[in-house]
Amino acid sequence: MALGNSEGELLEIVVFGTWEARSPEEYIARIAQVAVELERRHGVEAVGVGVGSPGPLDIRRGEVVNSPNMPFKRIEIVRPLREILRKPVAFANDAVTAAVGEKYWGLGRDKENLVYVTISTGIGGGVYVDGELLLGKEGNAHEIGHMVVDVEGRLVCGCGKRGHWEAYSSGRGIPNLARFLAEAEPSLVEETCLPLGPELTAKEVFDAFRRGDQLARKVIEWVNRFNACGFANITNAYDPELITVGGSVALNNPDVLIEGLRDRVAEYAVNRVPEITLTKLGPNVGLMGALALGLGLEKKVPLV
Ligand SMILES: [Zn+2]
Repeated sequence: MALGNSEGELLEIVVFGTWEARSPEEYIARIAQVAVELERRHGVEAVGVGVGSPGPLDIRRGEVVNSPNMPFKRIEIVRPLREILRKPVAFANDAVTAAVGEKYWGLGRDKENLVYVTISTGIGGGVYVDGELLLGKEGNAHEIGHMVVDVEGRLVCGCGKRGHWEAYSSGRGIPNLARFLAEAEPSLVEETCLPLGPELTAKEVFDAFRRGDQLARKVIEWVNRFNACGFANITNAYDPELITVGGSVALNNPDVLIEGLRDRVAEYAVNRVPEITLTKLGPNVGLMGALALGLGLEKKVPLV
């Protein structure tokens, strides 16, 4: 959470774990409490609240529904926050919120056609076409992480379906891919220094890749191929002028994931491949988007 101003400055950031809450009500109460503390510490009264949340969402009801990345099956966000804080609330998917941040405060300021992609625990995105933010009937028009990139469906996604981009190339997917490839090619296991149990992390795979580990090299080769498909699908579907990329996995490994990506995408894209670059807003791109939403800057996600 952050308190920010209309100059696009984040005055203070407060971090706490979603999973610390024992119920949706406790989770909302915590958010409201931090909001009140931020206002008090800075001697201001906020005009509105912008919320970016892991999806899937039901934006009309202002709820998170069945999210694989949240601790509760259903979390009502908008109504209780508005009631407790007595302020208008704007609510969007977290990757959409980050796209709003890029559009209003980042590299997308002069762009009518922009896609933001996050590669972190999962993969998500937000899309502007012809200057309009895409939302869809429930606010999930751009669940790009669940685009099918493997018709053989070798890995199962966090959402329960097979073959999705996120299942292979995200922070959670990469260790699964390593275990899958190790099983498929036992000769690679003899040489590798990677622990292949449930404790394996994406970071360990990237570190091993840089040391020349053969299994890690294989994993990254696959990750880059699936990323080429994902970014090509985005290029073909939305025809963006610019794609910016954020999320911890991308921000920590641009030398592996972003370098050379445009050439790999060109093998699959029919539309002209746009510039693809890391967001300049770093890990705060989502907070910057929430700030824009809280200030009422994005008419497609109004304060209500
Ligand atoms: Zn999925």
